Amino acid sequence: MVYDFTIAGAGIVGLSAAFKLTNAFPDASVLVLEKENRVAAHQTGHNSGVIHSGIYYQPGSYKARNCVDGRRQIVNFCRENGIQHDICGKIIVASNEEEVSKLISIYKRGLENDIDGIRLIDEKEMKEIEPYARGVRAIHVPCAGIVDFPEVCKVLAQKLKDAGKSVMFEHPVQGVYQTNGVLSIQTPKTAYKTRHFINCTGLHSDRVARSAGVKPNIKIVPFRGEYYELTPDAEHKVKGLIYPLPNPEFPFLGVHFTRMAKGGVECGPNAVLAFKREGYNKTSFDLSDTIDTLDYPGFWKMAGKHWQMGLDEVYRSFSKNGFLEKLKKLIPSIQSAELKESPSGVRAMALLPNGDLLDDFYFETTEREIHVLNAPSPAATAGLAIGDEIVKKAKNSFAL
Ligand SMILES: Cc1cc2nc3c(=O)[nH]c(=O)nc-3n(C[C@H](O)[C@H](O)[C@H](O)COP(=O)(O)OP(=O)(O)OC[C@H]3O[C@@H](n4cnc5c(N)ncnc54)[C@H](O)[C@@H]3O)c2cc1C
Repeated sequence: MVYDFTIAGAGIVGLSAAFKLTNAFPDASVLVLEKENRVAAHQTGHNSGVIHSGIYYQPGSYKARNCVDGRRQIVNFCRENGIQHDICGKIIVASNEEEVSKLISIYKRGLENDIDGIRLIDEKEMKEIEPYARGVRAIHVPCAGIVDFPEVCKVLAQKLKDAGKSVMFEHPVQGVYQTNGVLSIQTPKTAYKTRHFINCTGLHSDRVARSAGVKPNIKIVPFRGEYYELTPDAEHKVKGLIYPLPNPEFPFLGVHFTRMAKGGVECGPNAVLAFKREGYNKTSFDLSDTIDTLDYPGFWKMAGKHWQMGLDEVYRSFSKNGFLEKLKKLIPSIQSAELKESPSGVRAMALLPNGDLLDDFYFETTEREIHVLNAPSPAATAGLAIGDEIVKKAKNSFAL
């Protein structure tokens, strides 16, 4: 059998791509190959569970467009399919007067990005929304929310199966070869034939692309995000989502408070270099992953530019008090005894040869393949819109 579309990766991006391709080409044969034994095994299942609004991103970028569109789509998808979610709203806090001008710039960007209902609020109103938060002003983002992303993935996989498509677990893609216009997707068990291949393998996307003969201009470098969780007696201090002002160069930095869809409140994540692409513990180590990072000149350029920030993050990884200090900026009454360690996640960050992190979502396309080479946050929120983007690219590049 020759499949019309084979998608590698059953995270939210791969499953959304398969779902949207199925909607666009109902008669097409679709195969999803996932190396683990379940959906959402990596980034999608280890994230903060936030439905982002899209307020931060460069207007016109994939992130800005896909996040706004994806947020509206995922909320509808959850409503239609009875998936647990809560549009609990978020505040972005200016902790002092010096931060207010930056807060206003973010607010203006939010207006440009057409974010529903955002407002600049004063301290009094902020306290009405989040009584324990401290700050001088804030942006209220009522359309931000929380969801259980693995649940979204389970429903997507079920819909694919109901439509007669195949989702196969424990099938890692090892290589992609082309003969006479047909692609052969090698897995340890067998090789699958397909006309088109979509690479949505997150932390391994650069390797899978290289195995297909594509030479991506990026390297995936893994950064672990570590969390604490509030003890039940402290959960009342957070009603929704409380975020600090982001660093425009590194918007993923800055620990925050997140109410979770399944219950509880998470604090974090930080961002520390991981020595294993799927290394969820401080001691996780993989020699070939480490060599892959340290061998890349872009890594050393990034380290040269941002070593101070990197060391600060490492300090907060090993020092609970360092982590707590950052959290106290947002909620001063939080105490060390109210924090317990919580599982971490690993981000796939696409690093350019000049040491810059690639900010926007990034795709490389050939006449039979689409490689999603950068899908960092907010790609879980944006997943369904990224699926539409992949359909558009498939129609253009595959001449369908
Ligand atoms: C700590 C953290 C917090 C975050 N918080 C948020 C948030 O609150 N909101 C938000 O919108 N985004 C958030 N993100 C980002 C978001 O989780 C990711 O952008 C999104 O999950 C990416 O989805 P994906 O499908 O591309 O990758 P993944 O979910 O990593 O899926 C890739 C899949 O490919 C599989 N795979 C890998 N190699 C192979 C292979 N060779 N063959 C077959 N399968 C393979 C993997 O097993 C995996 O299942 C966060 C990320 C992290 C790490």
